[in-house]
Amino acid sequence: MHAFFRRLFFRYRRGRVNTEQPLNTRHNMSSSTAAILYAVTIAVSPKSASPEDAAKRSHHLKDRFKNPWESWRPFQLFKVLRSLIGLILTQFSLSRRLTGRANVPDTTPPTVPVQQPEFLTGRETKTLRATWLGHACYFAEFPGGLRVLFDPVFQDRCSPFSWMGPRRYTEMPCQISDIPIIDAVVISHNHYDHLSYPTVMEISKRHPNCHFFVPLGNKQWFNDAGINNVTEMDWWEERDVTLSPSHAAEVAQPGESASQGADIKARVGCLPCQHTSARSPFDRDKTLWSSWYVESGGRKVYFAGDTGYRAVPELPEGVDDYGADHDYPICPAFKQVGEYKGPFDLGLIPIGAYQPRWIMSPMHADPHDAVNIFRDTGCKRALGMHWGTWVLTEEDVLEPPKKLREALKRHDIPETGVFDICNIGESREFLID
Ligand SMILES: [Zn+2]
Ligand SMILES: [Zn+2]
Repeated sequence: MHAFFRRLFFRYRRGRVNTEQPLNTRHNMSSSTAAILYAVTIAVSPKSASPEDAAKRSHHLKDRFKNPWESWRPFQLFKVLRSLIGLILTQFSLSRRLTGRANVPDTTPPTVPVQQPEFLTGRETKTLRATWLGHACYFAEFPGGLRVLFDPVFQDRCSPFSWMGPRRYTEMPCQISDIPIIDAVVISHNHYDHLSYPTVMEISKRHPNCHFFVPLGNKQWFNDAGINNVTEMDWWEERDVTLSPSHAAEVAQPGESASQGADIKARVGCLPCQHTSARSPFDRDKTLWSSWYVESGGRKVYFAGDTGYRAVPELPEGVDDYGADHDYPICPAFKQVGEYKGPFDLGLIPIGAYQPRWIMSPMHADPHDAVNIFRDTGCKRALGMHWGTWVLTEEDVLEPPKKLREALKRHDIPETGVFDICNIGESREFLID
């Protein structure tokens, strides 16, 4: 029986196994659809400042990882379900539904508007540009020419099965084939709503030299799929990325707009967040989860991935867990991120999948937590994510933006123009000031 379930869950892991390549010596021709072919070089960044506790690696256990903070609380009553996170959220809701205690979100259209995204066809970009492609997937176009896709999942269901699991209630705004250039894919962790086998396979096929950045322990999964352009990193590690045109005529300084024949430079940093991982009942927390930053063309983006901020106990209905009587430990990592790597021009921060709080809060921020993360990390602007796509938890599908406005008001931040939400498929530009 055990073997049967293993086969079931790992059926997407088929693929050829290739040997690893040295991290800092790989040179490949890049993006297939770009007018100029680029050679990609990945190098370990010169050591930069990080918090004292980063060296202690307190998130490492013998064969898995943990959240090393008081702000974390593992599920205790439902240990059996705990390892199945991606699916479990729905299953858990079902068990509450049987007892009549759960809210069943209504997904009858209209919900979140979906529009056809417009991508730049070349590498010229005057501003930082970000396009929401649903749930936690954002496409970022940097002024230096770099094109990065965060947590792409182009599937109907976020599940190991094509016949079971949460199904999209909003349309996919486009296909992978509609994105003209993808230089790098950044993955926050291996839950099915963030890492999709068919999606990474298609990206790899269409953009053979696209480079994948993943948290520690995820590289083997890519190698097993036949993808070797992958770098796995621990929290606080950084890599320098250089895209060199095959017929280099000139070399631009980092921060300059891309011009024909200029190098494109970037720094990619893996940073902590409070979450879990699992793709089957057998690999709970065996791979790391993380947030990330990418700096290129003089602009810096913080991708918070999937994260909680603090653990809230079960409270009576309607009680405000941010009220004066409630003071719970917060995850200290975000202030460290802000102090050592901030400020950021743009934060991509999760605002959904948070109800009920006493179950979801350790691993999923609600909009109030999200605004705190926004402030702690030193983001100048932010866009919301991790909502509007799959029903994973019990809050109404249009509640996250409403609660975000309330949270912004509480922090005396304007309700629009700072931490915004956008339509699925919509692009926002962030002018250089
Ligand atoms: Zn997750
Ligand atoms: Zn998620």
